[in-house]
Amino acid sequence: MIPSTTPAGTDPSAVPFLARTPEEWEREARRLGGKPFHGRQIFRSIQYRGVTNPLEMLDLPKALRERLATEGLRDSVEALTVRRSTDGTRKILIGARDQANVETVLIPGVTGARGRLPSPYDAADAAAGGGGDDGYGPDDDGPGDGAGEGEGEGEVQTGTAPDARIRVSQCISTQVGCAMGCVFCASGVAGFKRHLDAGEIVGQVLLGRRHLDDDERLSNVVYMGMGEPLHNYDATARSLRILTHQDGICLSTRRITVSTSGLVPEILKLGEDFQGNIGLAISLHAVSDERRSALMPINRKYPIAELMSALRKYPLPKRRRITIEYTLVSGQNDTPAEAKGLTKLLATLPVKINLIPMNPIDASTLGPPPMAGVLKFQKILVDAGFSCFIRRQRGEDVDAACGQLALLGAKPKVKRSLGVI
Ligand code: SF4
Repeated sequence: MIPSTTPAGTDPSAVPFLARTPEEWEREARRLGGKPFHGRQIFRSIQYRGVTNPLEMLDLPKALRERLATEGLRDSVEALTVRRSTDGTRKILIGARDQANVETVLIPGVTGARGRLPSPYDAADAAAGGGGDDGYGPDDDGPGDGAGEGEGEGEVQTGTAPDARIRVSQCISTQVGCAMGCVFCASGVAGFKRHLDAGEIVGQVLLGRRHLDDDERLSNVVYMGMGEPLHNYDATARSLRILTHQDGICLSTRRITVSTSGLVPEILKLGEDFQGNIGLAISLHAVSDERRSALMPINRKYPIAELMSALRKYPLPKRRRITIEYTLVSGQNDTPAEAKGLTKLLATLPVKINLIPMNPIDASTLGPPPMAGVLKFQKILVDAGFSCFIRRQRGEDVDAACGQLALLGAKPKVKRSLGVI
């Protein structure tokens, strides 16, 4: 359990509504003429029941409800449009109060009431000895989703029989745009506009829950949408505390993954602040500094050796692993030699590897290798003993797949391509 600490001296009024801890709500309730326990009720109304209109918080005294309403308590984000893919994935365009837009994606799993779809990649998991420990998807292309693992986690605890509803993973954004400039990613190409505050991050999850189908439940949250979460560390950390709070949404830390392009000091800080309990995914994408720097400019600041050293220091709990994301870009990082290089680079780290055939974006002429090449790359990793999965493309028809989230109207005019490195 992550403590919901409130830094001394934090003025609760200055914290976004949706990101206040119960302790901060206690202080606010007192300021507004209520009792401290009313503050805890407010937290529970918002985070557990999803009620953000104070006039609907009927367990509060009428005077306090009205006082809260005059404070302007309301959602800081709203759903502008929802696009549903043929595979059930939903991309929600989120609007903030300043008209900024980000996107969040609901990705239903294929286990549960609707049955499990066969995956050609399951065999590779078994061959690699993948066991359930640290997955971040609902049905997931990774090993951490063993049947029954985490049942009852990642959603409001009801104490009832095993839940047959379909598990949904939500991918959330942390910034409007992104400053990291990865060449295969629409958010990076669009550039950085601003950080989201913690309320806007939590608000995406509250909104996402409202858009679940009746036979679905929120299971996992992945910080893999628009933006680099660790570039917006404070808001990301606060949102993690709120989402995992036992009186709120109560997501298990095992069901949350923060993905980073490799900001070394913040990786270490995340490990320290959350004792390694938050799932960590690293966008690696290359095994040499030269190639990685060309794909991901952040590598010039934190080269691969520094990144690997930080991963070794990340205080992972037993049986959990770091996820390595490797986007396969045709002609750039997809050769057997690179697969072998990856096996050497990761040899002593507790990792699982997700291979992502690059999703095409308007801003780039780069693309994925043919599936035969992807499978060959995977086989080298599996033969070396790694758990290695090929991420299925989800929501591609609504531009919701990995790397396709972009600022609306911010598509660059010039297509960016990369020469042979
Ligand atoms: S891949 Fe992630 S870090 Fe890189 S530009 Fe896209 S959103 Fe930013």
